[in-house]
Amino acid sequence: MQGHFRGHQSILSTSRTSKHMTAGLVRRLLHTVFPMNCRTCDHALDDDPVPFFCQRCWNQITPVLSPRCPRCAHPFSSPHALTHSPEHLCGPCRKHPPAYHRAWTPYAYQSPLKEAIGLLKYRGKTQLAPALARLITLTHPGPTNVDVLIAVPLHPDRLREREYNQALLLAHHLGQQWKLPVLIDVLRRTKPTLPQTSLTRRERLKNLRKCFVVAAPSAVEGKTTLLVDDVFTTGATVNECAKALRKAGAQAVYVQTLARMSAHDQ
Ligand SMILES: [Zn+2]
Ligand SMILES: [Zn+2]
Repeated sequence: MQGHFRGHQSILSTSRTSKHMTAGLVRRLLHTVFPMNCRTCDHALDDDPVPFFCQRCWNQITPVLSPRCPRCAHPFSSPHALTHSPEHLCGPCRKHPPAYHRAWTPYAYQSPLKEAIGLLKYRGKTQLAPALARLITLTHPGPTNVDVLIAVPLHPDRLREREYNQALLLAHHLGQQWKLPVLIDVLRRTKPTLPQTSLTRRERLKNLRKCFVVAAPSAVEGKTTLLVDDVFTTGATVNECAKALRKAGAQAVYVQTLARMSAHDQ
C-alpha cells in the first residue's frame, strides 16, 4: 500500500514537472512568435537590433561628455576643469594614486543601461553582451599599445552560482572587436567579497586586501594589460587587480568598464 502510495506520488510529481517544462516551452515559443516588450518603456519590440530594448531607448545611452580626471575618469563638475591644465588629477587620485595608469568609464550607470547590465549580470541574458561591448567600442575604437585583455574575476563560488562571468563575456566581445587576446584564468579572486557599496572606504579596502592573485605571472610579465569590468563603482576592485598585475610584472595596467556609478547611484 505504502509502495503504491509512493508510486502514485512520483507519478504526480512527474506530471507536475512535465507541466512545468511544457509551460516553459510554451512561454519560449510565445516569445518567439510574439515579440517581447522593451524592458525600459514597455513598447512591443519589433525588429529592434538589441535584444530586450527598443531602438529608441537604446539610443538614449550616450557617453558622459564632461571633462574627466585623466587617471580615474571621475567626471569634473566644471566644464573648464581641464582647459588650462589637461593633466589635472582629481583629489582622490592626488591623495592615493591608483595602481592603474588610466581608466575609461564612458557611460553613467543609469536607465536603460542600468537595466541592461542587470539583465546581463543577474538574469542570465548573456545575449546582451555583444551590444554592451559595442557601446564600449563606440567610445573607444581601439586601445593603442595594449597587449592583452583581462576580465575582473569572480570568486569561484560566485562563478558556480552565476555560471558565467559577465566581465569576461564583455572582454571576449571586446577582444573580437579590437582583435586583442583575452587572458583567461590568469587573474584569480581568492576570497569572496561583500557588496562594495554598503561599506566605508576603510572597510572596502580591508575587504579587498590580497583578494586577487596572478596564477601565471609569465603571462602578464612585461605586458600592457587592459582590465575589463562592467561597472566602476569606487575603483577599489580594479585598483586591487591592478596592484596584483603590477606585482606580477605587468608593465602597465589600464582599465575599461562600461559604466560608472556616481555617489548618488549607490
Ligand atoms: Zn523602449
Ligand atoms: Zn582621479
